[in-house]
Amino acid sequence: MANRKLGTKCIRSGYVPKKGEPQVLPIIQSTTFKYDNSQQMAELFDLEASGYFYSRLQNPTTDAVAAKITDLEGGVAAMMTSSGQAANFLAVINIASAGDHVLASSSIYGGTYNLFGVTLKKLGIDCTFVDQDLDLEELQNEIKPNTKLVFGETIANPTVKVLDIEKFAALAHNNGIPLLVDNTFATPVFCRPFEFGADIVTHSTSKYMDGHAISLGGCIVDSGNFDWEQNDKFPGLTTPDDSYHGLIYTKKFGKGAFITKATVQLMRDLGSTMAPMNAFLLNLGLETLHLRMPRHYENALAIARFLKDHPKVAWVNFPNLEDDSYFNLTQKYLPEGSCGVLAFGLKDYDATTTKFVDKLELVSIVTHVADARTCLLHPASHTHRQMTKEQLQEAGVAPDLIRLSVGIEDVSDIIADLQQALQSI
Ligand SMILES: *Cc1c(COP(=O)(O)O)cnc(C)c1O
Repeated sequence: MANRKLGTKCIRSGYVPKKGEPQVLPIIQSTTFKYDNSQQMAELFDLEASGYFYSRLQNPTTDAVAAKITDLEGGVAAMMTSSGQAANFLAVINIASAGDHVLASSSIYGGTYNLFGVTLKKLGIDCTFVDQDLDLEELQNEIKPNTKLVFGETIANPTVKVLDIEKFAALAHNNGIPLLVDNTFATPVFCRPFEFGADIVTHSTSKYMDGHAISLGGCIVDSGNFDWEQNDKFPGLTTPDDSYHGLIYTKKFGKGAFITKATVQLMRDLGSTMAPMNAFLLNLGLETLHLRMPRHYENALAIARFLKDHPKVAWVNFPNLEDDSYFNLTQKYLPEGSCGVLAFGLKDYDATTTKFVDKLELVSIVTHVADARTCLLHPASHTHRQMTKEQLQEAGVAPDLIRLSVGIEDVSDIIADLQQALQSI
């Protein structure tokens, strides 16, 4: 299936029915699976045979969706999680533990910033946040002997900064560690980070992949390209796991080592599993991802241009605007489009932002982004409100920043709503 076009993969990959089977991905609503004798069960628990036994670890509906996303990203294996937060958490702790260090761009989703800066720290994993636009030499200064991974977002939420994936991959690989990229905003429709050297990709599938704001989910995809045995930094993958009779993941599962360990060890112990029903709903979203993303993008570009020309708007960030500081990176990594999210600020923002927001009729105020309905948020007073002024600045979230997630309604109606709200202030 590898040489099919992306739009075909969105619809056809993952679930391939055989003769007489349902044409549409069925919801296997069962926690458990039946076997004929003790031997069969024993082999499953020793990882000597593969098969379903308990939906906390694997479920056929969920696995079909994992296979589809694997195909879309061009990876070798994937694991679905209950949310995007769980995906990033599990991806990190699959290779980092107490005493280790991770390097992350400071321009990342607020929830991930807290996860890395607060919760992982409590677990003994230290994080350094860096300005992702520093050059390679400057970034190298932040790497420590115990650094286990480098992390960034293809398009940062909410600043819409574009990550120089090749630079981050070089940084990681020069130090014998993997690059993890959160590809939530771009989706594989617009960027496939593995093509630029990323090793692991994560998603909050709650966003564009689901596309309708109906179910939370996450995903970890492995490119299969990183050599875990090149050094002794990843003993969890390259030395015996006592909880499976001394099995060594890289020896037993080769390119599948990372996702297998995440599934049979972390999902087993932590259980942040995606439910089959949610996997089914996510799959419906994926079937139109290649149709929706271009529409999100075209609408956002038209609105970015409208806002840019408006006398009451102070600034607009959208990476595909010719004069945006990320335009060059966008040409390289996102040549066909980026996403539907843009950021902007109003002139005299203290006096105008709340008034403007409250005047909107079609555009809704919600915490969510990246679904069919246009919505808006003011991070400094909503999602990022736990951050200090300094942290906000470091994350590039200006106090006047308004995040607009452009939906797939008719763009003239969205512009008309923004226009009337701007006129009223
Ligand atoms: C929303 C989001 C997350 C967290 O995902 P949830 O599904 O809400 O847990 C992680 N990364 C990015 C870039 C996001 O936008």
